[in-house]
Amino acid sequence: NGATWSDAEKKKRLLVLVNPAAGKGNDVSAYERDVAPVLECAFDRARIDVVVTTRRGEAQERVASMDLQNTAAVVCVGGDGTIAEVFNGLMSRGGAAEKFPIGMIPAGSGNAIAKSLAHAGGEPCDRASAALAVARGHIAPAGNGDAAATAATASVMHSLLSFSWGFFADVDIESETMRWLGGLRFTIQAIVRILFLRRYSAKLRFKPLAITPDAVPAGKKSKELAIGQEPKEAAAVAAMDGASAGDAIADRPGWREIEGDVQGLWALNLPWGGEDMYAAPGAAPDDGCYDLLVIAGASRLSLLGLLLIFDGGAHCTHPAVTYVKASAFELDPGPSHTGKGGFIAVDGELVARADGKWGRTRRQARSPSH
Ligand code: ADP
Ligand code: MG
Repeated sequence: NGATWSDAEKKKRLLVLVNPAAGKGNDVSAYERDVAPVLECAFDRARIDVVVTTRRGEAQERVASMDLQNTAAVVCVGGDGTIAEVFNGLMSRGGAAEKFPIGMIPAGSGNAIAKSLAHAGGEPCDRASAALAVARGHIAPAGNGDAAATAATASVMHSLLSFSWGFFADVDIESETMRWLGGLRFTIQAIVRILFLRRYSAKLRFKPLAITPDAVPAGKKSKELAIGQEPKEAAAVAAMDGASAGDAIADRPGWREIEGDVQGLWALNLPWGGEDMYAAPGAAPDDGCYDLLVIAGASRLSLLGLLLIFDGGAHCTHPAVTYVKASAFELDPGPSHTGKGGFIAVDGELVARADGKWGRTRRQARSPSH
C-alpha cells in the first residue's frame, strides 16, 4: 500500500541496529552504501542513530530501554536472529511496545522474515528494496507475536518466525560457523546431516486446524506451543485446550500424534524459512496457527530428494513429509540415538532445553569472526 510516515513521525528518530556478525560479515560500509541514502529520503540524517552491536544480546538490551516516544521505528540490519533480539526486547516491555514498527534490512545468512515480507509485497528481497519499504513507511503485520517457546525450554522466547527441532534445527545451528557462505550454509549442512543421519525417538502431538476459515475460534487467535519431556508440560497445553491434565491422546478431541522415528519438526508462522526455502507455502502470520512440517521415517535418498524441491514448495506433498496447519502442538523431543544434535531453535536461535542440554554455552564458545 502507499502508506507513508506522517510529518510528526518523520520528526522522530530512527534507531538502526547493525549486526556485524550476521551473514557474510555485515559492515557499516554496506549500510552506508545501500541503505542510508534510501532511509534519508524520509528521515534527516541527523535523526538516524546507527549503532553497530558489539556482542549478542546488545540489540535486545538497547531496545528494552530505548525511548519509544521519540523514535519512529527500529531498523535491523542483519538476519532473523537480529530481528529476534529486537522483537524480544520490545515484547519484554509489553503494552504498545509489542506493536512498535521494526524495519528489516536483509543482511543475514537466514533472512526468512524479510523474504516473507518482500514476497507478500511483490518486492525483491534486497537491502535497497527493504530500505525503500522502511522509508515509505510500509507497515505489515509480520506475526502476532503470541508464540512463545515455553514450558520446557529454560527461558521464554517470543517468536515471529519458527520453532524447529531435529534435522531442521541441527542444520541451522550447526551451520553457524559457515555464515560466510550466506544461505548456502543451510544446503551444505543439510547434506552433511543427511549423510550422517541422526535418528530420534520423539513424540509430536498437534491439533490440526479444520480447513474451513471459521474453524479458527473467535478470540482464540493466539498460538500456544509447548515442548517437553515432563507430562506436566504436556498438560499445560491440554489444559489450555479445555481437556484435563494428563489426558491420553485419545481423550483429546481433535488431537493427533506422530510417534517414533520422527526426524525433524519445523513449525512456521511465515511462508519462507530462508531466502530460497518456500517451506510453508500456506503460512500466514495472523491465521492463528502454525504450519507444521514433520519428517518421519525418511531414508537418506528421500531426504536428498526433498532438499532439491524445497525452494519451490514441492516438498509439502512428499511422502516422507506431513504438512499440516495446527492451532496447537507439543513436542517431546526424546533422546537422540547418537546422543548428539536434537537442538531446539526459535527463529533460528538456539534455545536451551529445560533438561539443560544443548544450551547457550555451546554457542557462546564460538566467536563470530565474520
Ligand atoms: P544470520 O542470518 O547470519 O544467522 P543473525 O541476524 O541471525 O544472522 O545473527 C546471528 C547472531 O549474531 C544472532 O544470534 C545475534 O544475537 C548475534 N549477534 C548480534 N550482534 C552481535 C555481535 N556484535 N557480535 C556477535 N554476535 C552478535
Ligand atoms: Mg540466524
